[in-house]
Amino acid sequence: MSRTGAGGRLAAEAPPAATAALAVLAALSTLSAPVAGQSRSGEPPRNPNADSETTIYEGVSVLDGTGAPLLPDMSIVVRDGRIAAVDRTDGLSPEDWPEAEIEDARGLYVIPGLIESHTHLATRADRAAAEFELNRFIYGGVTTVRDMAGDVRALAELQRAALVGEIPAPDIHYAALVAGESFFVDPRTRSSSMGEVPGRVPWLQIVDDETDLTETIALARGTWATGLKTYASIEGPLLARIAAEARRQGIPVWSHTHVGPALPMDVAGAGVTSMSHVCSLASAAIPDDVMAEALAGRRSGMVDVDLDDPRIDAVLEEMRRQGTVLDATLKVGFFREERMAVLARDSLGPPPDAPPPPPDPRRRGVRAQCSPEQGVELTRRAWRAGVPIAAGTDAPPAPGSEWPALYDELAYFSKRVGMPMVDVVRAATSHGALALGLAEEIGTVEEGKYANLVFLEDDPSAGVENLKSVLFTLKRGRRFDRQDFELGTPPSRRP
Ligand SMILES: [Zn+2]
Repeated sequence: MSRTGAGGRLAAEAPPAATAALAVLAALSTLSAPVAGQSRSGEPPRNPNADSETTIYEGVSVLDGTGAPLLPDMSIVVRDGRIAAVDRTDGLSPEDWPEAEIEDARGLYVIPGLIESHTHLATRADRAAAEFELNRFIYGGVTTVRDMAGDVRALAELQRAALVGEIPAPDIHYAALVAGESFFVDPRTRSSSMGEVPGRVPWLQIVDDETDLTETIALARGTWATGLKTYASIEGPLLARIAAEARRQGIPVWSHTHVGPALPMDVAGAGVTSMSHVCSLASAAIPDDVMAEALAGRRSGMVDVDLDDPRIDAVLEEMRRQGTVLDATLKVGFFREERMAVLARDSLGPPPDAPPPPPDPRRRGVRAQCSPEQGVELTRRAWRAGVPIAAGTDAPPAPGSEWPALYDELAYFSKRVGMPMVDVVRAATSHGALALGLAEEIGTVEEGKYANLVFLEDDPSAGVENLKSVLFTLKRGRRFDRQDFELGTPPSRRP
């Protein structure tokens, strides 16, 4: 059953509650620095890719991303790219929305649009390759991605094309990176600044004790980056000053968990917004004498540590206290392990009696050994300690996969970490929004937020595989039907 109204824009006729919500959002956006998705004037941004009609999705069951259990018999009003109302079906009066088209969605399930908290779309700019990934994301229910550093010249153009609806794609948020000078021998810094000098461009900047951090962070914001990534070769006190200046300028800091020499406790104590790579928490357990040797430059490389060390729990407690999001990236650990296994099987790995590799010049000092399975254990410990866990992969899906790698991360959370589905969904929605600093805009099914919604055939609270029963996805109200999805042929990467 479907009734179709006259449609059209209804901005002047908004009911009081929705108007108030938009006014609050507008007021909030004037308090902090603008981010992508918010206009600089403080007004709610136009949504050029949103369907302007009002649609009521009637009779759905909602797992809303707040941590609440599945809510049956709900209806969601979507208008001008936002959730205009969400209520029990018998509590919602369709007369309040006279021009709405009513979609009978009984029997369907709704979750917030998924957020991939750690991807790399342009380590080397390649428009065709990025669009291939973005198409797989949006038709797979991913409405927002956080790109954790790459060539911002390419990312900004992709972000624009996604925002105005030129390409099928999630909303794109990206980082500008800062690190100590020794990091900038990493070949990825060269590919991400091709034609320019890595460390000397606003999206890849060298920082040290002499750096004018006000200027550095303002330059980073000028690239339209919505986060500052602190990567490597930064001392604890400098990291704390970076985080304080970033807070003052209203841009979140997305840090590695071990920035080397800054250790996990330095990072958590600095008050960053998110910390990436759960396995690096193990660095908190590096024995003091080993750390002293490393700081004196007499030792580097990997160290075996005791993962029961209470200093790891102290870091988790500090993260819980500050609400720091842990971007666990279990997927990249398993991905690397599988790749090493393939190399070993094909006899391409180092011979067993080879000398140890030279110290990695990108990272001063030592790092703790941590297997993917130990990463799972650390994630469980963080989750039990009350640290908000976000779902990021930092890795591609299996070749030819019809689904984004994010689904692998969620399967690890569910099947290995042992999270209940309500927390698995939270990791891929509201906790991702928290990491982006966009908790007021996206990440839950709540009035006033963007209409980023995934409609499923199967109950998302009943098992992680059910998340793949996607019928269609809304991003800012624009609809992407799964049946229209074509993976296509992955464009071959340039050498
Ligand atoms: Zn990464």
